[in-house]
Amino acid sequence: MDTQQVLLHMNHGMGDNSYAHNSIIQKKVMREAKAIVEESIMRLYAIIPIHCFKVADLGCSSGPNALQLVSNVIDIVDTTTSNLNLKPPVFQFFLNDLFGNDFNSIFKSLPQFSEIIEEKKGQKCGACFINATPGTFYKRLFPNNFLHFVHSSFSLHWLSQAPKELGNEENVHLTSTTPPAMHKAYLEQFRKDFKLFLKLRSQELVPKGGMVLTLIGRDKTQKTHDIRTAWSLIGTTLNDMVLENLIEAIKLESFDLPLYDPTIEEAKEVIEDEGSFTLQRLESVILDWSTNIKEAVEDENNNNLDLNTKAEFTTKFVRAALEPLLKAQFGEKIMDELFVRYKNKIVQLIMEVKLLEFSTLIISLIKKV
Ligand code: SAH
Repeated sequence: MDTQQVLLHMNHGMGDNSYAHNSIIQKKVMREAKAIVEESIMRLYAIIPIHCFKVADLGCSSGPNALQLVSNVIDIVDTTTSNLNLKPPVFQFFLNDLFGNDFNSIFKSLPQFSEIIEEKKGQKCGACFINATPGTFYKRLFPNNFLHFVHSSFSLHWLSQAPKELGNEENVHLTSTTPPAMHKAYLEQFRKDFKLFLKLRSQELVPKGGMVLTLIGRDKTQKTHDIRTAWSLIGTTLNDMVLENLIEAIKLESFDLPLYDPTIEEAKEVIEDEGSFTLQRLESVILDWSTNIKEAVEDENNNNLDLNTKAEFTTKFVRAALEPLLKAQFGEKIMDELFVRYKNKIVQLIMEVKLLEFSTLIISLIKKV
């Protein structure tokens, strides 16, 4: 079995470095896409009679965001069915992630979640069945013509694997000095993976079914630093540690991050080439890396947050997502040291560039009949 399917997951539990406590940026992305999810679901209601609404959230992770889509969809359907004078449907949600995901913490939060929904909606809301679907979204997860709506937020920038034999010795991703062949290899891997993802989902969705995807993107016109800077600073930090004999060089030479941030054009080209979906929307939103940091640190004065707090927030956002893969390659012992050094690099970066931004693509698709 492909090792990434087993190793990749976000940091478990509820601790200081957990994904649950460091996923505010991803929450903001879901908020940005909510109106587009709403548009897609309202369109579905206008054209397909739905008695049991089947929805999948692919790459749900754990923590508060894992059930956010469920809550959003229930709200949207409640409003839509009331407006159209329709009976509310029964809901069946499928929460998908890789095998190492902390599904248990989602299960444990379900009783409280159901109570909140019942209190909010009372008898108005149809029965809601929540299922877990472990597995990679680069394979089939559901029967043919099964789902009405597919959602995936902040997950599709994860490739099925980093391109093989890159020869990217001192770094872990693409930088401004990486040779063009490496850029091409990453783009090819993205094309292959995204195309496969679209083909598989088109088999699982009912005709005219909807799909809303968000993923990290790349904006060529963006003047400030993009997310690749955050990834490449992991490489620089690891390289410093190799030079100080804290890490074996061979471990760094054989490691590359399985991540890709397509431009709007790159994503569009794959969707058109694959051909199973009509493109409803494809937008890019630019977000500050320290977006909503106020919610995370409970400071009322967002603009005046000190450098250290901003760098700490950014480091934790990166650590919660990348630590399990880095730990598997470089060992648990060096993780604290790695991220102390990484934070210092982020402090320097913020001093140099002031604003850290990245682009998120929001894509809305309809399965062709
Ligand atoms: N949707 C959540 C989580 C985003 S983090 C949110 O918005 O907060 C990205 C998630 O995608 C991680 O939990 C990771 O394990 C998952 N993921 C990455 N590759 C995957 C794959 N091939 N199949 C299923 N899940 C995957």
